[in-house]
Amino acid sequence: MPGTVVRVSDRCDSCGDSGTDMKTVQRIYLKVDPLTHQVVDEQLADEFETWCPICRVTYAHQLI
Ligand SMILES: [Zn+2]
Repeated sequence: MPGTVVRVSDRCDSCGDSGTDMKTVQRIYLKVDPLTHQVVDEQLADEFETWCPICRVTYAHQLI
């Protein structure tokens, strides 16, 4: 919406929800073996994201 100031820090980059208690995180990409379902590799994302509490519980990440 033109002219609307969007406060990025109030919106979750992962699920799009807005709210409080947003935190800046770095997503961790997990590589899971399809047979054993064990994590065989993990890679830190290049960029920072803003996540809500729910996404921080659900997805692997590292707090900044
Ligand atoms: Zn979220």
